[in-house]
Amino acid sequence: MKKTIIRTGLETLYFSGGHRLMRPLVGGIGSILTFHHVRPPRSEAFQPNRLLEITPVFFEGLIRRLARSRIDIITLDEVHQRLVSGVSKRRFVSITFDDGYRDTLRWAYPLLKKYKLPFTLYIPTSFPDQLGELWWVALEMVIAKNNRIGITIDGKDQFFECATLREKRELYDAVYGYLRSLKTEDELRKVVRDLCACHCVDIPALCKELCMTWEEIAQLAADPLCTIGAHTVNHVILKKIPSDAAVRSEIEMSRSVIEAALGVRPQHFAYPVGDKTSAGPREFNIAEQLGFKTGVTTRPGVLFKAHRNHLMALPRISVNGEYQQQRYVKVLMSGAATAMWNGFRRVNAA
Ligand SMILES: [Zn+2]
Repeated sequence: MKKTIIRTGLETLYFSGGHRLMRPLVGGIGSILTFHHVRPPRSEAFQPNRLLEITPVFFEGLIRRLARSRIDIITLDEVHQRLVSGVSKRRFVSITFDDGYRDTLRWAYPLLKKYKLPFTLYIPTSFPDQLGELWWVALEMVIAKNNRIGITIDGKDQFFECATLREKRELYDAVYGYLRSLKTEDELRKVVRDLCACHCVDIPALCKELCMTWEEIAQLAADPLCTIGAHTVNHVILKKIPSDAAVRSEIEMSRSVIEAALGVRPQHFAYPVGDKTSAGPREFNIAEQLGFKTGVTTRPGVLFKAHRNHLMALPRISVNGEYQQQRYVKVLMSGAATAMWNGFRRVNAA
């Protein structure tokens, strides 16, 4: 339902030309694009995380168009430079990938190299250490493989049917919502670990299968097109960490580990999950104190000159696998859709 509404909104803006009419008001000076997986389509009907993946064909279509357009494709250092100096003659786009999936190296990188486009990779350091917990993927696996699952909710074992596609989708959304509603990251991880232990899903194996090793990341980091950014150690939802010191250490430690492993000190940071419920003023302040040049969220939006005063809370445009149409990306980058989403506020950093 929600997907249909979003799609209709994007279609309306595109076909009415509304996004072009609104551009002088909402277009800003550029945007930062977010990607997760770029890989060939999978055949399974149950893919609750499909929004996080696009196909190589769609990706190439998108970057080919960008490369041929009158938009500058720039590094995050240059985004920072343009925001701080206030001088940005042409509209720009900066390309970012979160989490360091192996398909970035296998599918996205050859295309970025072909079109000579700079990009940033945000690495949660436990992922290349092969200790990462991709709990949203683990949850997908548990529900995909079983017809009935048991979860301990508030100390009580509860059982849910998930034999049909519809039940699987509904259960995934319900459990995902429940996990996101838990107060602390520790509680969230414990529920997922218990669930995986009961249903024989090997969490570290998922990380090994999906995420690049340090050697693979080093291949990308050696290319001048690639900027490496930090993304915490454990990919934690920072707002769910009670202690300020623990938040600081997740951010600071990830920078040190990357520096030790790759010999480059990250200047840019991405808040895991990154929406309003995952990162807020406390996290922005800590990232600032730690001396990062920029901090990116997943709050939707394009960049305005005013973001020079909010460098630790930059919005991004997620290229969503549910809407793999070039025209949708065009509408999103015009700023029209996100302006509506943000109620026409340019900066959303509270
Ligand atoms: Zn992430």
